[in-house]
Amino acid sequence: MSINIRTPEVEIREIRLGSITGYGGTAKGLCGRSGSGGLCDRSRSFSQCLGCSSGNALCQVVMIQDAVVINHAPLGCSADFSDFNFTNRVGQRKRGLHLGNAKLLSTNLEEKDMIYGGGAKLEEAIREAYVRFNPKAIFVTTSCASGIIGDDVSGITDAAQEELGIPVVLVACEGFKSKIWTTGFDAAYHALLRKVVKPPVEKKKDVINVINFWGEDVFTPLFGRLGLKPNYIVPFSTVEQLEKISEAAATVQICPTLGTYLAAGLEQEYGVPEVKAPTPYGLEGTDIWLRELGRVTGREKEVEELITSERERIAPELEELRGKLRGKRAYVTAGAAHGHSLLSLLQELGLEIVGAAIFHHDPCYDNRDERSDSLKHAVKTYGDINNFNVCNKQAFELVNILNRLKPDIFVARHGGMSVWGAKLGIPTFLMGDEHFGLGYQGLINYGHKILDVLSTREFFENIAAHSELPYTDWWLQQNPYAFLGGEGDE
Ligand code: SF4
Repeated sequence: MSINIRTPEVEIREIRLGSITGYGGTAKGLCGRSGSGGLCDRSRSFSQCLGCSSGNALCQVVMIQDAVVINHAPLGCSADFSDFNFTNRVGQRKRGLHLGNAKLLSTNLEEKDMIYGGGAKLEEAIREAYVRFNPKAIFVTTSCASGIIGDDVSGITDAAQEELGIPVVLVACEGFKSKIWTTGFDAAYHALLRKVVKPPVEKKKDVINVINFWGEDVFTPLFGRLGLKPNYIVPFSTVEQLEKISEAAATVQICPTLGTYLAAGLEQEYGVPEVKAPTPYGLEGTDIWLRELGRVTGREKEVEELITSERERIAPELEELRGKLRGKRAYVTAGAAHGHSLLSLLQELGLEIVGAAIFHHDPCYDNRDERSDSLKHAVKTYGDINNFNVCNKQAFELVNILNRLKPDIFVARHGGMSVWGAKLGIPTFLMGDEHFGLGYQGLINYGHKILDVLSTREFFENIAAHSELPYTDWWLQQNPYAFLGGEGDE
C-alpha cells in the first residue's frame, strides 16, 4: 500500500498513484495503458481553469459538526465558504440534524504577511476559534500563499494541540501542489488518520463505514436487510464518531476517487477491511459489490437473497425503461470513478455512450487491487467507449466535442459543466446526489429521470437559440485535442 501517515503531508496523487489529467482516445486504450507503464500525462498548451485541492479538502472537514476549520490563506481562497455553508445546512436538514452554520475562519493573509510570515496570525486564529466555538477539533487547511512563505503550520498545530488538549490538525492542501484536485480529499483523510482516528477498543460487527459526500440515506434500508448499519463519514459526522471508525466491520465507498486513501489507510493501520469491488452502479457492479460486502461480513446467504429479490423486483420496470431508452446517445462528464459508474449505469439502461470527459484518471487506487477498477469494469461489462477524454474541466474541449457529437442527452455531475449542454441545445441532466443512481433502485430512478429530461428538448433548443457561445466557429472546427498536442492518443 502507498499510505504513510507518519509524515505531516500527504503524497500527491501524481506521485502516489501516477494519476493524469490529459488523455484523448478510447476507454479501452486508457485501461490498457494503466499499469503497463504506457500511461503518460499529456500537458495542455492552453488551459482555461483548474479546481484546487483546498476546496476538496474543505468539503470533507467543514461538515464535521463539532469541529472548526481555519483556512490559512488570503481571503480570495475563501470564495467557496458560502457554498460549504449552504451544503452544510441542506445536509443537516436531510439527515435530521440541528441546523447551524459551518464553522469556518480565514487567517486573511495579506501582503505584509507574505514578507514577515503568517505564523502569528495562525496562532491567534486557533486560540480565537477555540474560545469562540469550543470545538472538539480544529483543522487548519493551507494555501498557495502559506506554502510559498513557508509557514511552519505543522509545528504551530502540534504546539496548539499541546496547549488546548484537542486535536489541532494540519491539512496540507496547497492548490499549486497537485494538478489533481482530488488530492485534497487525500489531504483531509491523511489529517484524520494522523490525529483523530483512535485504535479500536471494541470491534462492531454490524457497523459499516460509508465514505460519501452528502447524498440521501439509501444505505440504512439496504444494509438493514443484511443486519448491518451504515456509519456515514466524513460530512455530518462528529469528532467522537470519527475517532471510532477503526471499530467498524468494513469500509465501503460510493466512489474510490473520493475514498481511496481513507479506506486503504483504515485497512492498513487498523485492519478494517475495505470492500474491494467496482462501484455499485448497474446490475453487475451492484451484484459484485454486495457479494464482496457479504463475504467480508459473513453474510453471503443474506446477500444472495437480497440480489435475487431486488433483481426480480425491478426486472419488469427495468425492461420497460430499456425499451424506451435503447439506442439514445449519451455523453457524460464527471469526476473519475463516479463518471465510470455513470457509464455503467447508463449502458445498463440501454443508452449508447458516445463519449465522456472525465476530470482525471487514477491508473490504480491505494489498495492496488484491480477489483476496484471501475473503468475496467465498465469496459469489460458493457464494451469500449470512443471519444474518451481525460479533461480537468476544460470547457473549450468539452464544447468542441459536444458540438461534434450532438448526443441526445448530456449527463453532468458538476454544475459548472452542465451549462454547456444547455447552451448547445442538448437536453442536460445534472445530478449532484451520487446515491440517486446507486444499486438496483438507482437504475430505476435514473431511467425515469432521463426520460423526463429527454422530453425537454424544445426547452433546451430555446435556451440555445437565445445563448451566445464564447467560442468562435474557428475553434469549433479545430481538432478538440489541438491544445493537447494535436491528435488524440489513438
Ligand atoms: S489555495 Fe491556491 S489554487 Fe487554491 S484557491 Fe487559494 S490561491 Fe487558488
